Formats: sequence, C-alpha cells, structure tokens
Amino acid sequence: MEYGKEIKKVLVCKERIAERVRELGEQISRDYEGESITLVCTLRGGCVFFADLIRAVRGDVEIDFIAVSSYGAGTKTSGEVKMVKDLSEPIKGKNIIVVEDIIDTGVTLSYLKKLLEAREPKSLKICSLLDKPSRRKVEFEGDYIGFEIENEYVVGYGLDFNQKMRHYPDVCVLAPEVYGG
Ligand code: 5GP
Repeated sequence: MEYGKEIKKVLVCKERIAERVRELGEQISRDYEGESITLVCTLRGGCVFFADLIRAVRGDVEIDFIAVSSYGAGTKTSGEVKMVKDLSEPIKGKNIIVVEDIIDTGVTLSYLKKLLEAREPKSLKICSLLDKPSRRKVEFEGDYIGFEIENEYVVGYGLDFNQKMRHYPDVCVLAPEVYGG
C-alpha cells in the first residue's frame, strides 16, 4: 500500500506479519495439544492481530474480549491503567492466552496479568505481536512474541495514532513531524 507523508517507513510488511502469525499459531497449537484454550483479545489495538491469529490456531478454541486503557492522547502513556470493558465469561480453571498488540513499558500487561491471575485460570500466557524491550518501566516478559522492535512509535495492523491508521495493513513507523517528535 502507498502511504502518505504521515508514514516514515514500513517496518514489518503484511507478508512478513502473515508468515509470523502462521508460526505463532503453529507454536500455540503444539503447546496446547489436547487442551482447550481461550484467546483473549485486548481492544482495540490487538484486534487485527487477534483476527488473524485465532484462524492460525488448531484445536478447541474460545474467544473473549477485554479493554484496558493506559494511553492518553498522542504517543505518551498516562501511566494509569483502567478497565474499560471486562471479559464476558469467567476464566477460572481455563487456559488463557491474552493477545496484545505491543508490549512497551509493560505497565498495561502487568496490571492485566495480575487482575486475571486473581481469577484463578488454569494457565495464563501473553502473546504480543510486537515487543519494545528497551522501553520497560516494569519487569515484564511475554510468552509468545511476533517481533522485537526498536524504540519507535508504530502504527497500522491495529495500532493507532489518535485512533487513526489502525486499518493500515503493514506495521509502519510514524513520521516524527506528525507527533512533534
Ligand atoms: P505499555 O503499558 O506496555 O506501555 O503499553 C501498552 C499499550 O500502549 C499498547 O497496548 C498500545 O496500545 C500502546 N503503545 C505502546 N507503544 C506503542 C506504539 O509504538 N504505537 C502505538 N500505536 N501504540 C503503542
């Protein structure tokens, strides 16, 4: 796809994403062979990755949705996490995989992990398309990671800038002029 000047460059193209999603789906299918899994989509950023990933996983799969927010407007985190939409089903005794768009400071997922662990699932793992390990404020490690990336603000494939650009098919680096960086 041709992007405008809001995009500095394509970081991960849709073909590479599709290949990695297939690999992650395969790995998850193998790890949970004979078990049922509930894949939990974190709204809104995880939605595109989630839609592709669930179709790459074999076996007995249920899906659910949760929304927490940590980002204020723009590209800066507010540091506060709040629950915006809870899961529809109880998770006690279930194998849960939370599917996220990106692990940045780690604040959102460590909050979410604690919150869900208190509900006593059988197991709880984190799958994130992207990981920016250099940005951590709290110690946090995902279990399934698509791509490790540098400290650049990315958009597309579900990720937004002020709620826009989520529909771009590739993961792209936002031009610094757009956010005054
Ligand atoms: P954390 O709590 O790990 O700092 O932040 C996680 C959330 O911040 C992600 O789910 C995502 O919504 C947002 N975020 C972090 N880095 C980026 C980025 O580079 N681009 C976009 N669009 N969102 C980001």
